[in-house]
Amino acid sequence: MQDKLMLMIPGPTPVPERVLLAMAQHPIGHRSGDFSKIIAELNENLKWLHQTKNEVCTLCASGTGAMEAGIINFLSKGDRVLVGNNGKFGERWGKVAKAFGLDVEEITAEWGKGLNPDDFKAKLEADTEKKIKAVIVTHSETSTGVLNDLETINKYVKAHGEALIIVDAVTSLGAVNVPVDEWGLDVVASGSQKGFMIPPGMGFVAVSEKAWKAYETSNLPKFYLDLGAYKKANAKDSSPFTPPINLMYGLKAALEMMKEEGLENIFARHKYLTQITREGVKALGLPLFASDNDAALAITAVAPDNHDAEAIRSAMRKRFDIALAGGQDHLKGKIFRIGHLGFVSERDVYTALSALKEVISSL
Ligand SMILES: *Cc1c(COP(=O)(O)O)cnc(C)c1O
Repeated sequence: MQDKLMLMIPGPTPVPERVLLAMAQHPIGHRSGDFSKIIAELNENLKWLHQTKNEVCTLCASGTGAMEAGIINFLSKGDRVLVGNNGKFGERWGKVAKAFGLDVEEITAEWGKGLNPDDFKAKLEADTEKKIKAVIVTHSETSTGVLNDLETINKYVKAHGEALIIVDAVTSLGAVNVPVDEWGLDVVASGSQKGFMIPPGMGFVAVSEKAWKAYETSNLPKFYLDLGAYKKANAKDSSPFTPPINLMYGLKAALEMMKEEGLENIFARHKYLTQITREGVKALGLPLFASDNDAALAITAVAPDNHDAEAIRSAMRKRFDIALAGGQDHLKGKIFRIGHLGFVSERDVYTALSALKEVISSL
């Protein structure tokens, strides 16, 4: 049916009407006093969302751009970095780091399993010469529906003392607790089309004082993504280049909605939605791809052993106008993923589960 599409993918996620309407305005001049006020409010609310006093830089880029900025601003050619790789995104950050000439060592885990913090501990403790300059971790690995144990990995990074912790929080920020200051996370990157409840096009990078010190000596090439320019502009409630003005109207409304709901309630809602999704899928006799221990609280990956995952996805789309995500790379056809991130309610999950029940019985 036309205009009935329901997004149950882990990004882009559904956008509330309040946000859509906020964006349906003429853009105003980004150097105007009125827009400065908006930037000031956004920066304050972004700090609230990140639970930090650190600078949060807003980029006109997708989440990958935010992560690339988070890597290239604080490191130098040949720097040794540990990169956690247990899925498509972890794999990507290894590729970005290599593209910029970093000395990459990957810490891997099977796709569908969480990274083992002890693997990081061993490498960091063995590094007595403090050659490791950063540890790059994907908090919520969207490709497999796994939440990595960032808190424990970060403890080992802190014990090392030299290395920065650089976090892909794209599907964890705004869904699960990411207390940036409490944990002392140095670089935290995210994107607008996931937990933020706004369309794609904006990236965010929160940067600690320790990371800004590393910025001073970083020699990797950068221009548009040079975060120093964003920091300077933030101090003047401004932006270095033309920002995505209408998306920022949307962000303003989305952050207001998040503040009204409250962080604790947002986290509790995502946890609950994960629980009912997992229970519902199990009740249909479909195996879950990640264990209860490893499960991400934003996406549920399902590995239907008796059916082609793509056939389920296609029937969900054709018959019910519900979009689910597929598996990537070697997981294509083996898993499908249900997104329950951002502007998603209990009703949405039950709707998707009922449709899934119909689809399974008709296949
Ligand atoms: C979506 C996502 C990204 C960013 O992808 P873009 O397409 O560049 O926005 C990065 N990491 C994770 C874990 C994601 O889910």
